[in-house]
Amino acid sequence: MQLMTFNGDQMAYPMYLSIGNMAKHICCKPSLHAQILVGYLPTPKLSDFSEEAACTVCVRLFHAALSIIMQSLKGPEHEGVEMKSADGAVHQCHLVIAVYIMDYPEQSLIACMCQGSQCLKCHAVEIEFEDHNLNWRSRKQDAMLNTLHHGAQQSTAKHKEMVLKGASLTHMEEPFWAGFRYCNIQDTISPDILHQLFQGLFRYMVIWVWSIVGTMELDAQFKCLPCTHGVRSFDNGISCLSKVSTGEHKEICKQLLGCIIGKAPTGVIRAMHVLLDFIHLVQYQSHSDETLKYLQASLDEFHKDKKIFLDLKARTSGHFNLPKLHTMQHYVDSTRECGTTDNYNTEATEHLHIDYAKDAYCTTNKKDYLQQMEPIAIPFNNVQVWDPVKFQLKHLQLDDGPAIMDTAVEMPSQGTKSTQFDTILVAVDDDAEDTGVQGRILFIVLIFE
Ligand SMILES: [Zn+2]
Repeated sequence: MQLMTFNGDQMAYPMYLSIGNMAKHICCKPSLHAQILVGYLPTPKLSDFSEEAACTVCVRLFHAALSIIMQSLKGPEHEGVEMKSADGAVHQCHLVIAVYIMDYPEQSLIACMCQGSQCLKCHAVEIEFEDHNLNWRSRKQDAMLNTLHHGAQQSTAKHKEMVLKGASLTHMEEPFWAGFRYCNIQDTISPDILHQLFQGLFRYMVIWVWSIVGTMELDAQFKCLPCTHGVRSFDNGISCLSKVSTGEHKEICKQLLGCIIGKAPTGVIRAMHVLLDFIHLVQYQSHSDETLKYLQASLDEFHKDKKIFLDLKARTSGHFNLPKLHTMQHYVDSTRECGTTDNYNTEATEHLHIDYAKDAYCTTNKKDYLQQMEPIAIPFNNVQVWDPVKFQLKHLQLDDGPAIMDTAVEMPSQGTKSTQFDTILVAVDDDAEDTGVQGRILFIVLIFE
């Protein structure tokens, strides 16, 4: 995958790491550096290899690189590591790999599976991707490892191929995740709103609607929408947009339904309506059992209504066996297990490429740039993780409520700037003396740059 281009064919494939117990308002702002760059993955040029050999080399290089990067996490995962919480108590914490945030090709690489033939999270196969609620069994890491080892033990290449192809697995004997005791790699594959919904199913839907309503007619509908506060105007329609950004996708989502009412059959409007409901609900920043029921109901309705696109010949392949459609079935479970989707949306991390890769490249001599763009080593052995702290001044009252002092957060050092840490005690009780420790004491880490 090409993430960025340097001098012509120069590429880097950066990998970032974050921790799961940071507050959401910190994680979602790239400028607060809740994510750190831990390495660059190899981007080999394999034009002299056959397609199959190139695929095998890519998978093995990818896992070899990740084994090196993730090596220092194995100890904290197995034996645990002592960490202090905000109240100063020391906890024995086991660091478990929770989520990998990436696009579908990289998800397949991580899972050692061939793209498109089977679901990465359950046992659904390609011809079942258009089906709904068949209660497929979840995939288990141990079973996959057994199959990979069984394939490796075969005496002939033909037998090995039979074992691996039957399970849709690639030629990989020892994936990097094999040494992680508490990890089930399939559970770490998370929903991806940007690639799976906006650039996936929603984009398909717009193309299908174009073929039903007509490109010029749909553009005309967008053009004639009156200017409205908070809504973007598409003065030239949407068909001329060459590379649609996430922001533009969100704007099109706001306006599309209004543009096709009266122009498309009722069934198409109903299908588009429930898909837009699903896209809206899945971006909620908090969920309850009830909202998750709404999310599931929207998906159920979409599967009931999707046949209209086949009947109207808008979908010409005659089926809906799309991996991105099937993965939507796992969204409710993933939200229950890993939290809301804004915690692991690739949209937030795309901005990191500017800070950590493009800006970093500009500071190099453009020759040995990978050595000069040195990533940060995974710091779990020496950095304590502190929750942000808020405290209230007792005798100070503002018009709209009690005065809350600002938060103190931990930030890793940047570039050549070193970060210093110091600890102070704050007496928050009236009984506390200047020299004493009576009353409740807060420990706060301050950062001086
Ligand atoms: Zn599945």
